[in-house]
Amino acid sequence: MSAAPRVTLVVHGRLWDGAPLAHDALAIAAGRIADVGATAALRERWRALVEREVDAAGATVTPGLIDAHLHLLPWARAADDVALAGAAQRADAVARVARFLGERPGAWPVVGRGWEASRWREAPHRAALDAVSGDRPVLLHSHDFHALWVNGAALRAAGIDARTAAPPGGVIERDAAGEATGVLRENAVRLCAELERDAARAAGSDAERLAAAARALHAFGITAVHDFERGADAFRAMHAFATGPGPRVRVLQCLGETQLDGAIALGIASGVGDDAFRVGALKLFADGTLGSSTAAMLEPYEGSTSRGLETLEPKRMNELVRRASESGIAVAIHAIGDRAVRNALDAFEAAGPARARPRLASRIEHAQLVDEADLARFAALGIVASMQPIHCTSDARLARERWGARCAGAYPWRTLLERGATLAFGSDAPVESPHPGSGLAAAVTRRAADGVPFEPRQRLTLDEALAAFTRVPAALSGAAGRLGTLAPGAHADLVVWDRDLHREAPERLHEARASCTVFAGEWVHGAAAAVPARGAGTGP
Ligand SMILES: [Zn+2]
Repeated sequence: MSAAPRVTLVVHGRLWDGAPLAHDALAIAAGRIADVGATAALRERWRALVEREVDAAGATVTPGLIDAHLHLLPWARAADDVALAGAAQRADAVARVARFLGERPGAWPVVGRGWEASRWREAPHRAALDAVSGDRPVLLHSHDFHALWVNGAALRAAGIDARTAAPPGGVIERDAAGEATGVLRENAVRLCAELERDAARAAGSDAERLAAAARALHAFGITAVHDFERGADAFRAMHAFATGPGPRVRVLQCLGETQLDGAIALGIASGVGDDAFRVGALKLFADGTLGSSTAAMLEPYEGSTSRGLETLEPKRMNELVRRASESGIAVAIHAIGDRAVRNALDAFEAAGPARARPRLASRIEHAQLVDEADLARFAALGIVASMQPIHCTSDARLARERWGARCAGAYPWRTLLERGATLAFGSDAPVESPHPGSGLAAAVTRRAADGVPFEPRQRLTLDEALAAFTRVPAALSGAAGRLGTLAPGAHADLVVWDRDLHREAPERLHEARASCTVFAGEWVHGAAAAVPARGAGTGP
């Protein structure tokens, strides 16, 4: 048999690589994009080696999508959790927990997620859960993962009582008598980390869950992720996943504060690794979220005296940013409110020339509200704005309620681009679905669930939105020219869509699906659509 690589042609596509290309075909060989050109020319040039041909039939072909901010392990584990999204009242949530406990009897802790109490008549309270759970610990994450509602058994197991002090940047909610109500906020959520690990171990295997998650991402057209789940457990699991033999995606893995000393001691900097798995930025939290009213604000929330919560003291943030930067470790700071964004930019500015030392760019995650005075500072300091278009449309109602007139500066994608900033897009899954059609639709329409566009001046073009989901995050992971592009020589990570995205009405872009996905030259989704060009066998 010939040692020459087998070649697959994708023909009659509308190729997109930063902009629509004039060519309509590409050749894939040995896991790479081997050639780009006209269908007839490629058929002729590769005739002797072509094993199969895939007809894109006029649909868009893009590089594989890269989700620049998600938490893959929690998303993968979600299938084993109590689903609380859409629970209209506390009683609905409790009923779902009761049903779940009945279906999965045992003593291990149960985890749930997705509750959103801003419209509930009764606030979350441990007693409501105790009534259905007995001695079995129950831990329920809010929709934004910045609050945890637990029962009495979980409080006891985690050793939280009337005397427990909240960690810095965290809140243990208490009743008038000083007893914990069962609601933990921000950094206090971590008091139950051990229990959550027990729950995950008891309910199944992370390796299997991650393989299932990879298949789901491939079906979405996603071939790489920037993972923002912190800690050694997530790091180990993601490394095994991204470098193992099973279904996988490429991973840029963040570090948590607890991993910083070890990384510095070992000389592990951002950019270490390869295109399968690479060490990313140190992840810090400057504040909470809009949904929990814990995003740190320059001025109080509408109709309130609260300015949210600084979950990391500015002085400490400055120290961490400087220390990490000096050791070549980029920093990614979660900052949602305008005060948190300013604190984060101040910390990068205070790091001085050390800011430029890491091989990968530092970034601010979310940047949902940016004060006018800070908009140009992203570009000036070389800090990337890593944002999630779906947050804009999902949270539009909340933003209008709590930020009022300040919404003019909310989710300011267009202005950030105009002021020279680099914009990367992700989903923040499991907070939102990583389905890219939804992200693209949100980016180009900014149309909220009620149909009203939110600050429509900030809309992006489809090309700008696609770039923020492909070539920009590729560059941020140190893989410019190898990922996020269809250029010859790049990894063959690509998506054949089910339609011509540029001819689709913007408001219908959320219906766009990946019809085929290729990862490292392998057809990992929709491969049945591929027609062998000669004979049925593709074996050697
Ligand atoms: Zn996140």
